[in-house]
Amino acid sequence: MTEPNKQHLAEALELRRESSLYRTRRVAETAQQPEMQIDGRRLLTFCSNDYLGLANHPEVVRALQQGASNYGAGSGAAHLITGHTTAHHALEAELAEFTGRPRALLFSTGYMANLGIAAALLERGDRLYEDRLNHASLLDAGQLSRAKMHRYQHADAESLQRQLERAEQGRALIATDGVFSMDGDLAPLPQLAQLAQTHNAWLMVDDAHGFGVLGDEGQGSPSHFGLGLDEVPILMGTLGKALGTFGAFVAGSEEVIETLIQQARSYIYTTAPPPAMAEATRVSLRIARQESWRRDRLKQLIKQFRVSAESLGLPLMDSLTPIQPILAGSATQALAWSHQLEAQGILVSAIRPPTVPEGSARLRITFSANHTERHLQRLLDALSNLKLETT
Ligand SMILES: *Cc1c(COP(=O)(O)O)cnc(C)c1O
Repeated sequence: MTEPNKQHLAEALELRRESSLYRTRRVAETAQQPEMQIDGRRLLTFCSNDYLGLANHPEVVRALQQGASNYGAGSGAAHLITGHTTAHHALEAELAEFTGRPRALLFSTGYMANLGIAAALLERGDRLYEDRLNHASLLDAGQLSRAKMHRYQHADAESLQRQLERAEQGRALIATDGVFSMDGDLAPLPQLAQLAQTHNAWLMVDDAHGFGVLGDEGQGSPSHFGLGLDEVPILMGTLGKALGTFGAFVAGSEEVIETLIQQARSYIYTTAPPPAMAEATRVSLRIARQESWRRDRLKQLIKQFRVSAESLGLPLMDSLTPIQPILAGSATQALAWSHQLEAQGILVSAIRPPTVPEGSARLRITFSANHTERHLQRLLDALSNLKLETT
C-alpha cells in the first residue's frame, strides 16, 4: 500500500519551491551571537531577535546551570499540578513589579499566551479587533476563540473606530502588536487606548519586540508612550527575544490573571517551563533593566544604519526599532538579495508571503547590542553591492 496523499504533498511542495516560497532550515553550530558558524560556514548574522545580546551572556548561562543543579532539568508537570516552583513564582513577581502591574503569569511560549488569552477572556457573541499585520499567533488566537473577529487597517485608529462604532453587544478585546514583527513600526497605542476606553474594550498589547527594548528600563512599548495598566490592561511579553531566554508572560489585574489561571487552556494543559529557565530569565531581566547602555547602543546602530542605508538608496521602511526591513517586493527578489548577502558572508533572512502580504517580501535586518561598528560597516558594504533594480 502506498502512503496516503504522498503524491499530493510532493506536488504542493514542488509548487512552493517554484514560487520561491520554499523554506529551509539552517543548522547553527555555535551559540547565538553576531558571528556564528552555520552549516559549516562563518557568517555575520543580522536576523536574530536577541536584541540586547543576552542569549549567550555568561551570567545568564550560569544562572541556567545553577538552576538546573537546584531544580533539575524539567518541571515534571503543569503549573496547576506540581510544576510551579519558587523560581517561576519569583520571576512572576519580578515581572509584575517591572511592568508596573498587579500580577504576571508565565506561559511556555508567546504563541501559547496569545491563544490562551483570547479564548479565556472572550465567548461566543464577543468581539475581537485585530490589526491586519498582527503576528500569526494573534490571528490564530482569533480562530480559536469563539468571538467574532474584525481586522482593521494597519496601525489605523480610524479604521478601528469605524468598526467599533458598528458594534453590537458583548465584550470587546482590541489586540495589537506593540512593535510589528516584520515591519518594525509601532502601533498607535495612545489612540487605540483612547478608543478602547470610549468603547469599554480591553486593549491587549503583544510586546514581543518592544519588551526589553523600548521604555527607559525596557518596560516596553506601553511605557514608551507613557501608558500604564489603566490604558493597557493586558500586556503580553516574550522572554525568548530581547531577554534572550525562553517563554512568555501576561501582566494585568488580579482578575485577569486569575481568569487566565482558571480558564486559559494553553496554560492549564501543558508542562510548566523548566525552573532553571525561570532562574536564567530572572538574571537576564535584571541585566536588561540595569544596563541601559544596551538600549543606547541599539539606538546608535539604528541611527547610523538608517543614515547610511538611505544614502545608498535602499528602500527602508518606517521603523525606529532594531527591526529594519528593506523592501524587495517579490519573493524572488528578496531571496536573490539574501543570497547575494550570504555570498559576502552576511546572513539576513528573506521574509516572504504568507508571513508578509503578497508583493511586500523583504529582507528583515535586525540589530543586537552585541553588533559592533565593524559589523555594521561590513553589512553596509555588502548592501552597497546589491543589485538594486526591484521587481
Ligand atoms: C515571536 C512572537 C510571538 C511568539 O512568541 P514565542 O515565545 O516565540 O512563541 C508572539 N507575538 C509576536 C509579535 C512575536 O513576534
